[in-house]
Amino acid sequence: MDAQYFVERFGARRRAPSFSSYGNAGTVGLLIEPRTKEEFVAAVAALGDESFDVAGRGTNILFPDGEYDAAVLTTRAMTGAEFCGEVAVALAGERLSSLAKKAAARGLSGLERLAAIPGSVGGAAAMNAGAFGTEFADVALWVDVLADGKRERLCPDECGFGYRKSALGKDAIVLAAAFSFARSDRAAVEREGRKYAALRAASQPKGRSLGSTFKRVDGTSAGWYIERAGLKGAREGGAEISQKHAGFIVNAGGGTAADYLALADRAQREVYKDCGVRLELEVVVAGR
Ligand SMILES: Cc1cc2nc3c(=O)[nH]c(=O)nc-3n(C[C@H](O)[C@H](O)[C@H](O)COP(=O)(O)OP(=O)(O)OC[C@H]3O[C@@H](n4cnc5c(N)ncnc54)[C@H](O)[C@@H]3O)c2cc1C
Repeated sequence: MDAQYFVERFGARRRAPSFSSYGNAGTVGLLIEPRTKEEFVAAVAALGDESFDVAGRGTNILFPDGEYDAAVLTTRAMTGAEFCGEVAVALAGERLSSLAKKAAARGLSGLERLAAIPGSVGGAAAMNAGAFGTEFADVALWVDVLADGKRERLCPDECGFGYRKSALGKDAIVLAAAFSFARSDRAAVEREGRKYAALRAASQPKGRSLGSTFKRVDGTSAGWYIERAGLKGAREGGAEISQKHAGFIVNAGGGTAADYLALADRAQREVYKDCGVRLELEVVVAGR
């Protein structure tokens, strides 16, 4: 790959620090951060058959320690949202929290339960992120994707949404999404938002993490099984199963990706030994 072309044409950076919210130290070979949909489409076209990773704001991706010799295309500089009546169209890199704030200021209800999820609109679409019984799929009207070099508009039924999964990703990159809101009043929407933020703050750790490490099992949180297996507070190097919420692995200081994966692996083994339940990673591991 002609990395210099991406540096000159798209302002890409070589050996840029990786940016996952777990905060392990590492770099990616080439970080490309387009600011518009057009630039994004041009960057994907220029990559051609080269392999690359897609990322949003890195709140659910674990990047390898050290040098990760790969091109990473992130939407995080591609932000903004436009409102028309009860509909908003947001670019993929827009923070879900920022979109929710803008909606609340207009008295539009719909994102209050998802407002504190720290990722981007594109990442929330790809993961079908959810909280308090509401998922991305419930509030999305359509999703614009880049698939096979072509831009397409998909309705939610065409996105393959399931529990913390979708058919969106590297083969159907989210460029933008539209949301449908219900008209309410600003104070009520903001009050609801504060209520869910407080519930979250009361139960989740503040430290650096990637959110829930594992998916729920038949509606039961993975944290419940991990706690049952006696692993609350367990550590591997700088990675720790949160004392506050066993479903989170937090970086307790100097945590590496290897520590994170060793601890996740230990949780899977011990939970299986304890009660025969297999935990499935929710977190995406780059390069796997
Ligand atoms: C403190 C904390 C709390 C969290 N709470 C929740 C929660 O309540 N509910 C929940 O569901 N999640 C939660 N998460 C996880 C995470 O915030 C969500 O999964 C979020 O939607 C990921 O968005 P992102 O932009 O950070 O995506 P990234 O982490 O950058 O990427 C995640 C996945 O999405 C893909 N992706 C990203 N952008 C695009 C795109 N534009 N097109 C196609 N694929 C894309 C990536 O390839 C990757 O596979 C939490 C995380 C943290 C750190």
